[in-house]
Amino acid sequence: MRTIDFRSDTVTRPTPEMRQAMAAARVGDDVLGDDPTVLELQQRVADLLGKEAALYVPSGTMSNLIGVRVHCRPGDEMVCEAGCHIYHYEQSGYAQIGGVAARTIEGRYGVLHPDQFEGMIRPGDAHYVRTRLVTLENTHNRGGGRVQPYEYVEAIAQWAHRHGLRTHLDGARLWNAVAATGIPLSQWTRHFDTVSVCFSKGLGAPVGSALAGPRDLMADALRHRKVLGGGMRQAGIIAAGALYAVEHHRQRLADDHAHARRLADGVRQIEGLTLAPDDIETNMLFFRIDDSLGTAASLRDRLKQQGLLLLATGPQTIRMVTHLDVGPDDVARAITVLGETVASLPET
Ligand SMILES: *Cc1c(COP(=O)(O)O)cnc(C)c1O
Repeated sequence: MRTIDFRSDTVTRPTPEMRQAMAAARVGDDVLGDDPTVLELQQRVADLLGKEAALYVPSGTMSNLIGVRVHCRPGDEMVCEAGCHIYHYEQSGYAQIGGVAARTIEGRYGVLHPDQFEGMIRPGDAHYVRTRLVTLENTHNRGGGRVQPYEYVEAIAQWAHRHGLRTHLDGARLWNAVAATGIPLSQWTRHFDTVSVCFSKGLGAPVGSALAGPRDLMADALRHRKVLGGGMRQAGIIAAGALYAVEHHRQRLADDHAHARRLADGVRQIEGLTLAPDDIETNMLFFRIDDSLGTAASLRDRLKQQGLLLLATGPQTIRMVTHLDVGPDDVARAITVLGETVASLPET
Protein backbone atom coordinates (compact mmCIF):
# COMPACT_ATOMS: atom_id res chain seq x y z
CA MET A 1 0.00 0.00 0.00
CA ARG A 2 1.40 3.36 -1.04
CA THR A 3 1.39 5.95 1.71
CA ILE A 4 -0.12 9.27 0.68
CA ASP A 5 1.27 12.14 2.67
CA PHE A 6 -1.00 15.15 3.11
CA ARG A 7 0.68 16.49 6.25
CA SER A 8 2.46 19.33 4.49
CA ASP A 9 3.79 20.53 1.17
CA THR A 10 7.25 20.17 2.72
CA VAL A 11 7.25 16.36 2.38
CA THR A 12 8.01 16.31 -1.35
CA ARG A 13 11.08 14.49 -2.71
CA PRO A 14 13.22 16.02 -5.45
CA THR A 15 12.16 14.82 -8.89
CA PRO A 16 14.74 12.97 -11.05
CA GLU A 17 15.23 16.13 -13.16
CA MET A 18 15.76 18.20 -10.04
CA ARG A 19 18.28 15.70 -8.71
CA GLN A 20 20.08 15.87 -12.02
CA ALA A 21 20.28 19.63 -11.81
CA MET A 22 21.61 19.33 -8.25
CA ALA A 23 24.20 16.72 -9.20
CA ALA A 24 25.45 18.85 -12.06
CA ALA A 25 25.49 22.14 -10.10
CA ARG A 26 28.56 24.32 -10.30
CA VAL A 27 29.59 25.14 -6.74
CA GLY A 28 32.00 27.24 -4.75
CA ASP A 29 32.32 28.51 -1.19
CA ASP A 30 29.24 30.64 -0.66
CA VAL A 31 30.54 32.08 2.62
CA LEU A 32 33.35 33.54 0.55
CA GLY A 33 30.71 34.71 -1.93
CA ASP A 34 31.72 32.57 -4.87
CA ASP A 35 29.19 29.80 -5.31
CA PRO A 36 27.91 30.53 -8.83
CA THR A 37 24.67 28.59 -8.40
CA VAL A 38 23.74 30.40 -5.19
CA LEU A 39 24.54 33.72 -6.86
CA GLU A 40 22.38 32.78 -9.83
CA LEU A 41 19.48 31.75 -7.61
CA GLN A 42 19.72 34.98 -5.60
CA GLN A 43 19.77 37.10 -8.74
CA ARG A 44 16.84 35.22 -10.26
CA VAL A 45 14.76 35.55 -7.12
CA ALA A 46 15.60 39.23 -6.70
CA ASP A 47 14.50 39.84 -10.31
CA LEU A 48 11.29 37.84 -9.92
CA LEU A 49 10.38 39.67 -6.74
CA GLY A 50 11.37 43.07 -8.12
CA LYS A 51 13.98 43.68 -5.42
CA GLU A 52 17.60 44.80 -5.62
CA ALA A 53 19.03 41.73 -3.94
CA ALA A 54 18.16 38.40 -2.37
CA LEU A 55 19.88 36.10 0.10
CA TYR A 56 19.63 32.32 0.16
CA VAL A 57 19.03 30.98 3.68
CA PRO A 58 18.51 27.48 5.10
CA SER A 59 14.88 27.93 6.21
CA GLY A 60 11.84 30.17 6.23
CA THR A 61 12.21 30.55 9.96
CA MET A 62 15.67 32.04 9.53
CA SER A 63 14.51 34.19 6.64
CA ASN A 64 11.70 35.72 8.69
CA LEU A 65 13.94 36.22 11.72
CA ILE A 66 16.52 38.04 9.61
CA GLY A 67 13.71 39.95 7.92
CA VAL A 68 12.50 41.26 11.28
CA ARG A 69 16.03 41.99 12.49
CA VAL A 70 17.05 44.13 9.53
CA HIS A 71 14.17 46.45 10.37
CA CYS A 72 14.03 46.35 14.15
CA ARG A 73 16.34 47.05 17.08
CA PRO A 74 15.75 45.72 20.59
CA GLY A 75 12.86 47.68 22.06
CA ASP A 76 11.06 47.92 18.73
CA GLU A 77 7.68 46.37 18.08
CA MET A 78 6.26 44.49 15.15
CA VAL A 79 2.52 44.43 14.40
CA CYS A 80 1.27 41.14 13.00
CA GLU A 81 -1.75 38.87 12.69
CA ALA A 82 -2.37 36.69 15.75
CA GLY A 83 -2.16 33.35 13.96
CA CYS A 84 0.76 34.14 11.70
CA HIS A 85 3.71 31.79 11.34
CA ILE A 86 6.26 34.29 12.67
CA TYR A 87 4.28 34.73 15.88
CA HIS A 88 2.92 31.23 16.25
CA TYR A 89 5.47 28.74 14.95
CA GLU A 90 8.89 30.32 15.20
CA GLN A 91 9.51 30.25 18.96
CA SER A 92 9.22 34.04 19.02
CA GLY A 93 12.75 34.20 17.63
CA TYR A 94 12.21 37.92 17.07
CA ALA A 95 11.98 38.24 20.89
CA GLN A 96 14.50 35.56 21.93
CA ILE A 97 17.18 36.70 19.55
CA GLY A 98 16.10 40.11 18.29
CA GLY A 99 14.74 41.74 21.46
CA VAL A 100 11.69 42.72 19.44
CA ALA A 101 8.12 42.81 20.82
CA ALA A 102 5.06 41.66 18.91
CA ARG A 103 1.60 43.21 18.95
CA THR A 104 -1.00 40.94 17.43
CA ILE A 105 -4.32 41.63 15.75
CA GLU A 106 -6.88 38.87 15.33
CA GLY A 107 -7.70 38.26 11.68
CA ARG A 108 -10.47 36.34 9.99
CA TYR A 109 -8.75 33.21 8.68
CA GLY A 110 -5.53 35.18 8.82
CA VAL A 111 -6.87 38.15 6.90
CA LEU A 112 -6.63 41.59 8.49
CA HIS A 113 -8.74 44.51 7.34
CA PRO A 114 -6.86 47.80 6.94
CA ASP A 115 -9.16 49.47 9.52
CA GLN A 116 -7.85 47.11 12.19
CA PHE A 117 -4.50 48.91 12.12
CA GLU A 118 -5.94 52.22 13.30
CA GLY A 119 -4.53 53.13 16.71
CA MET A 120 -1.87 50.42 16.58
CA ILE A 121 1.07 52.82 16.72
CA ARG A 122 2.41 53.41 20.22
CA PRO A 123 2.84 56.95 21.51
CA GLY A 124 6.41 58.21 21.19
CA ASP A 125 7.27 58.55 24.86
CA ALA A 126 9.58 56.53 27.06
CA HIS A 127 6.87 54.27 28.47
CA TYR A 128 6.42 52.38 25.24
CA VAL A 129 8.15 50.16 22.77
CA ARG A 130 8.75 51.78 19.39
CA THR A 131 6.30 50.58 16.73
CA ARG A 132 8.52 49.82 13.78
CA LEU A 133 7.28 47.03 11.51
CA VAL A 134 4.18 45.48 10.02
CA THR A 135 4.38 41.87 8.84
CA LEU A 136 1.82 40.06 6.71
CA GLU A 137 1.65 36.42 5.60
CA ASN A 138 0.50 35.41 2.13
CA THR A 139 -0.88 32.84 1.68
CA HIS A 140 -1.83 32.45 5.32
CA ASN A 141 -0.96 29.02 6.70
CA ARG A 142 -3.20 28.77 9.78
CA GLY A 143 -5.82 30.75 7.89
CA GLY A 144 -6.29 27.69 5.67
CA GLY A 145 -4.07 28.80 2.81
CA ARG A 146 -5.98 32.09 2.48
CA VAL A 147 -4.85 34.61 -0.10
CA GLN A 148 -4.70 38.12 1.34
CA PRO A 149 -7.04 40.37 -0.65
CA TYR A 150 -4.74 42.50 -2.80
CA GLU A 151 -6.45 45.77 -2.04
CA TYR A 152 -6.10 45.13 1.72
CA VAL A 153 -2.39 44.41 1.31
CA GLU A 154 -1.97 47.63 -0.62
CA ALA A 155 -3.93 49.69 1.92
CA ILE A 156 -2.14 48.18 4.93
CA ALA A 157 1.30 48.76 3.41
CA GLN A 158 0.38 52.32 2.45
CA TRP A 159 -0.81 52.95 5.99
CA ALA A 160 2.43 51.53 7.38
CA HIS A 161 4.71 53.53 5.12
CA ARG A 162 2.68 56.70 5.66
CA HIS A 163 3.45 56.33 9.35
CA GLY A 164 7.13 55.64 8.84
CA LEU A 165 6.86 51.91 9.52
CA ARG A 166 8.61 49.17 7.57
CA THR A 167 6.84 46.18 6.01
CA HIS A 168 7.88 42.54 5.76
CA LEU A 169 6.05 39.81 3.88
CA ASP A 170 6.23 36.18 4.96
CA GLY A 171 5.66 34.86 1.47
CA ALA A 172 6.53 31.22 2.14
CA ARG A 173 3.60 30.41 -0.17
CA LEU A 174 3.47 33.63 -2.17
CA TRP A 175 3.89 31.42 -5.27
CA ASN A 176 0.49 29.93 -4.43
CA ALA A 177 -1.10 33.36 -4.11
CA VAL A 178 0.19 34.17 -7.59
CA ALA A 179 -1.14 30.90 -9.00
CA ALA A 180 -4.53 31.51 -7.37
CA THR A 181 -4.99 35.14 -8.41
CA GLY A 182 -2.85 35.73 -11.49
CA ILE A 183 -1.45 38.82 -9.76
CA PRO A 184 2.29 38.74 -10.52
CA LEU A 185 4.93 38.27 -7.85
CA SER A 186 6.41 41.73 -8.28
CA GLN A 187 3.01 43.36 -7.87
CA TRP A 188 2.47 41.69 -4.49
CA THR A 189 6.01 42.41 -3.37
CA ARG A 190 6.21 46.09 -4.26
CA HIS A 191 4.32 46.86 -1.05
CA PHE A 192 6.98 45.31 1.16
CA ASP A 193 10.47 46.42 2.10
CA THR A 194 11.52 42.80 2.56
CA VAL A 195 9.99 39.55 1.35
CA SER A 196 10.68 35.98 2.40
CA VAL A 197 9.87 33.11 0.03
CA CYS A 198 10.28 29.34 0.54
CA PHE A 199 11.54 26.87 -2.06
CA SER A 200 10.85 23.85 0.14
CA LYS A 201 7.05 24.20 0.29
CA GLY A 202 4.87 24.08 -2.81
CA LEU A 203 7.80 24.38 -5.20
CA GLY A 204 9.14 21.06 -3.98
CA ALA A 205 12.83 21.86 -3.52
CA PRO A 206 14.62 20.03 -0.72
CA VAL A 207 16.09 22.99 1.19
CA GLY A 208 15.92 26.69 1.55
CA SER A 209 14.25 30.06 1.47
CA ALA A 210 15.28 33.50 0.33
CA LEU A 211 14.96 36.97 1.78
CA ALA A 212 14.77 39.79 -0.75
CA GLY A 213 14.95 43.55 -0.37
CA PRO A 214 17.06 46.66 -0.95
CA ARG A 215 20.81 46.15 -1.31
CA ASP A 216 21.76 47.88 1.96
CA LEU A 217 19.32 45.81 4.02
CA MET A 218 20.50 42.62 2.31
CA ALA A 219 24.11 43.44 3.21
CA ASP A 220 22.94 43.65 6.79
CA ALA A 221 20.96 40.41 6.32
CA LEU A 222 24.17 38.64 5.31
CA ARG A 223 25.71 39.53 8.68
CA HIS A 224 22.62 38.25 10.51
CA ARG A 225 22.67 35.01 8.51
CA LYS A 226 26.30 34.44 9.49
CA VAL A 227 25.76 34.90 13.22
CA LEU A 228 22.74 32.57 13.11
CA GLY A 229 24.96 29.88 11.58
CA GLY A 230 23.26 30.14 8.21
CA GLY A 231 26.37 30.63 6.11
CA MET A 232 26.76 27.48 4.01
CA ARG A 233 29.73 26.46 1.91
CA GLN A 234 29.04 24.51 -1.33
CA ALA A 235 25.37 25.43 -1.03
CA GLY A 236 25.02 25.43 -4.80
CA ILE A 237 24.02 21.79 -4.61
CA ILE A 238 20.81 22.62 -2.77
CA ALA A 239 20.42 26.01 -4.43
CA ALA A 240 20.32 24.17 -7.77
CA GLY A 241 17.24 22.30 -6.52
CA ALA A 242 15.65 25.60 -5.55
CA LEU A 243 16.54 27.16 -8.90
CA TYR A 244 15.11 24.18 -10.75
CA ALA A 245 11.91 24.46 -8.71
CA VAL A 246 11.56 28.19 -9.37
CA GLU A 247 11.89 27.61 -13.12
CA HIS A 248 9.78 24.46 -13.45
CA HIS A 249 7.32 24.07 -10.59
CA ARG A 250 5.50 27.36 -10.33
CA GLN A 251 3.13 26.71 -13.20
CA ARG A 252 1.91 23.42 -11.76
CA LEU A 253 0.74 24.91 -8.44
CA ALA A 254 -2.69 25.34 -10.04
CA ASP A 255 -2.90 21.51 -10.06
CA ASP A 256 -2.36 21.44 -6.31
CA HIS A 257 -5.15 23.95 -5.88
CA ALA A 258 -7.50 21.88 -8.05
CA HIS A 259 -6.62 18.79 -5.99
CA ALA A 260 -7.36 20.64 -2.77
CA ARG A 261 -10.76 21.73 -4.11
CA ARG A 262 -11.55 18.13 -5.05
CA LEU A 263 -10.54 16.93 -1.59
CA ALA A 264 -12.77 19.61 -0.11
CA ASP A 265 -15.70 18.42 -2.23
CA GLY A 266 -15.11 14.96 -0.78
CA VAL A 267 -14.85 16.18 2.81
CA ARG A 268 -18.13 18.11 2.46
CA GLN A 269 -19.91 14.83 1.72
CA ILE A 270 -18.65 13.15 4.90
CA GLU A 271 -20.97 13.39 7.87
CA GLY A 272 -19.18 14.59 11.00
CA LEU A 273 -16.49 16.60 9.18
CA THR A 274 -16.77 20.35 8.65
CA LEU A 275 -14.42 22.41 6.54
CA ALA A 276 -13.28 25.69 8.10
CA PRO A 277 -12.92 27.76 6.07
CA ASP A 278 -15.32 26.17 3.62
CA ASP A 279 -13.98 27.78 0.48
CA ILE A 280 -10.58 26.53 -0.60
CA GLU A 281 -8.36 29.10 -2.29
CA THR A 282 -5.00 27.34 -2.56
CA ASN A 283 -3.42 24.03 -1.53
CA MET A 284 -4.61 23.65 2.06
CA LEU A 285 -7.74 22.54 3.79
CA PHE A 286 -8.63 22.39 7.44
CA PHE A 287 -11.60 20.51 8.82
CA ARG A 288 -13.14 19.87 12.22
CA ILE A 289 -14.17 16.45 13.37
CA ASP A 290 -17.35 16.33 15.42
CA ASP A 291 -16.75 15.78 19.16
CA SER A 292 -19.05 12.75 18.99
CA LEU A 293 -16.57 11.00 16.69
CA GLY A 294 -13.52 11.38 18.93
CA THR A 295 -10.44 13.52 18.56
CA ALA A 296 -8.41 14.65 15.59
CA ALA A 297 -5.46 12.65 16.95
CA SER A 298 -7.41 9.40 17.03
CA LEU A 299 -8.73 9.92 13.48
CA ARG A 300 -5.20 10.74 12.34
CA ASP A 301 -3.90 7.50 13.88
CA ARG A 302 -6.60 5.40 12.23
CA LEU A 303 -5.94 6.99 8.85
CA LYS A 304 -2.23 6.34 9.24
CA GLN A 305 -2.98 2.61 9.40
CA GLN A 306 -4.74 3.04 6.05
CA GLY A 307 -1.72 4.72 4.51
CA LEU A 308 -3.09 8.25 4.75
CA LEU A 309 -0.99 10.82 6.61
CA LEU A 310 -2.70 13.99 7.88
CA LEU A 311 -1.78 16.55 10.50
CA ALA A 312 -3.79 17.14 13.67
CA THR A 313 -3.45 20.88 14.28
CA GLY A 314 -5.81 21.12 17.25
CA PRO A 315 -7.91 18.82 19.47
CA GLN A 316 -10.63 18.61 16.77
CA THR A 317 -8.82 20.07 13.78
CA ILE A 318 -7.07 18.35 10.91
CA ARG A 319 -5.03 19.85 8.11
CA MET A 320 -4.46 18.44 4.64
CA VAL A 321 -2.06 19.96 2.13
CA THR A 322 -1.66 19.05 -1.54
CA HIS A 323 1.69 19.14 -3.30
CA LEU A 324 3.96 17.85 -6.04
CA ASP A 325 3.86 14.23 -4.85
CA VAL A 326 0.05 13.99 -4.75
CA GLY A 327 -1.74 13.04 -7.96
CA PRO A 328 -5.42 12.79 -8.92
CA ASP A 329 -5.57 9.08 -8.01
CA ASP A 330 -4.18 9.85 -4.56
CA VAL A 331 -6.90 12.44 -4.08
CA ALA A 332 -9.60 9.97 -5.10
CA ARG A 333 -8.23 7.29 -2.77
CA ALA A 334 -7.91 9.76 0.09
CA ILE A 335 -11.58 10.70 -0.19
CA THR A 336 -12.64 7.05 -0.18
CA VAL A 337 -10.44 6.10 2.78
CA LEU A 338 -11.46 9.17 4.74
CA GLY A 339 -15.15 8.51 4.16
CA GLU A 340 -14.90 4.81 5.10
CA THR A 341 -12.79 5.48 8.16
CA VAL A 342 -15.05 8.21 9.53
CA ALA A 343 -18.13 6.05 8.88
CA SER A 344 -16.54 3.24 10.91
CA LEU A 345 -15.77 5.39 13.94
CA PRO A 346 -17.65 4.40 17.08
CA GLU A 347 -19.82 7.23 18.40
CA THR A 348 -18.50 8.40 21.75
C1 LIG B 1 6.83 26.82 6.67
C2 LIG B 1 6.61 28.27 6.89
C3 LIG B 1 7.64 29.09 7.35
C4 LIG B 1 8.97 28.56 7.85
O1 LIG B 1 9.67 27.79 6.97
P1 LIG B 1 10.71 26.68 7.50
O2 LIG B 1 11.56 26.48 6.31
O3 LIG B 1 9.90 25.50 7.90
O4 LIG B 1 11.47 27.27 8.65
C5 LIG B 1 7.38 30.44 7.45
N1 LIG B 1 6.19 30.94 7.13
C6 LIG B 1 5.18 30.19 6.70
C7 LIG B 1 3.88 30.82 6.34
C8 LIG B 1 5.35 28.82 6.57
O5 LIG B 1 4.32 28.07 6.18
